Amino acid sequence: MVYLNNNLPDGYSNKYNMIKDLLYIISLALIGSCISTLKSNKEKVKLKTTSLFKYDQQESKSAGSSIGEPSINTKNDNIEQTKNVKNIRTQSNKEKAKLKTISLFKYDQQGSKSAGSSIGEPSINTKNNNIEQTKNVKNIRAQTNNNASLNKIIEKIKSGEIANIIVMTGAGISTNAGIPDFRSKNNFYDKIRLYQKKNKVYLGVTDNKENFYTLKIMNKEPKHFFKALSECGKFDESNPTITHYFFTLLDKHTRLLRYYTQNVDELENKAKLSDDKIVRYHGGFHISTCTNKSCGNRCKYSLLSECYKKGNVPYCNDLFKNGCKGILKPDVVFFKEPISVPKTQDDDFNKCDLLIVVGTSLSVAPFKQLVKKVKSDVPRILINMEKVGDFVKHPRKDDLFLKGDCDSWINKIVELLGWHDELETLSN
Ligand SMILES: [Zn+2]
Repeated sequence: MVYLNNNLPDGYSNKYNMIKDLLYIISLALIGSCISTLKSNKEKVKLKTTSLFKYDQQESKSAGSSIGEPSINTKNDNIEQTKNVKNIRTQSNKEKAKLKTISLFKYDQQGSKSAGSSIGEPSINTKNNNIEQTKNVKNIRAQTNNNASLNKIIEKIKSGEIANIIVMTGAGISTNAGIPDFRSKNNFYDKIRLYQKKNKVYLGVTDNKENFYTLKIMNKEPKHFFKALSECGKFDESNPTITHYFFTLLDKHTRLLRYYTQNVDELENKAKLSDDKIVRYHGGFHISTCTNKSCGNRCKYSLLSECYKKGNVPYCNDLFKNGCKGILKPDVVFFKEPISVPKTQDDDFNKCDLLIVVGTSLSVAPFKQLVKKVKSDVPRILINMEKVGDFVKHPRKDDLFLKGDCDSWINKIVELLGWHDELETLSN
């Protein structure tokens, strides 16, 4: 070690050198200690990583035989390994998700198996007993009970024990076809309100009133009435949904007694449902009648569909070239017009052995009263986003509520009936 402090006195220089040496030694010791600590930390990281990896391995092992165990070379302790561990953990999580799905699926299978026969309590892996799982179990149990009832009904339809089904539908079955309903957000009347604002015209709709379908409005503003109908109703641009086709299929299998609908969109007509099965409770566009009473000409929907599509006024003279100035009014039941009760109604509901109610709020009388007319031992199915009407006020023990999108439920029912291929053929 060479010091360059030649100008200092000897004693001082020696002392100074000693101190410097001492400091040097101390600093060496400190550096050594630091390196040691760093090494130790690195080991700890290494240990921690290995430990996590082992944990993951254990989890994977306990997860199930179908899942392959990941293998890792733990000798090379480097970034690559950390990356691997991360990947494996992701993989492990994915597998956990996969397991959860498999487990639920197994449960579902068991539920379905037990559904048709006696009331079997499905078995569930209850190892992780927490609130979330309890909630799931409750939901699944409710679902399974629904499945049990549904499967029984399906078997009866297949065997012919159920052969006289009455279907009741509302606007909810046509929303998937793009036709607005009368209750949801952006419904038909909301669209009419916008139309009125845009075109500076009054068509009977205010914040409190929804009197669009009136003779007064149609006669006063014929151009806007039919234009608004075309723009807001979308009747002619829409095609039937799987739900519409299912009712046609029920008829083809001789299980449909009658189809009661509040809808005026004619989608059941487009779905080829036999006209004698349809009861249009609020009328429809299937027939139009001249408003000129001395004329009284009637015509079918097909002759006016282009006119409706364009939003033109269907004048009697345009079609019949008869000089009549009347408008061909669709046979929709307008505001304050009487609803004619179909002749077959009492007979129908006496014969009925299953009632299926789909996509309606059951809020409009007298239609909503019909669900009460089936005998007390006749099962009633409601497929809807929420439980409504008599299903809430006077529930029956054989009621079955299938909550959710009607097309999804109908699809499930079609699968259970084994009619999927037929439905495909019919709808193409
Ligand atoms: Zn006429």
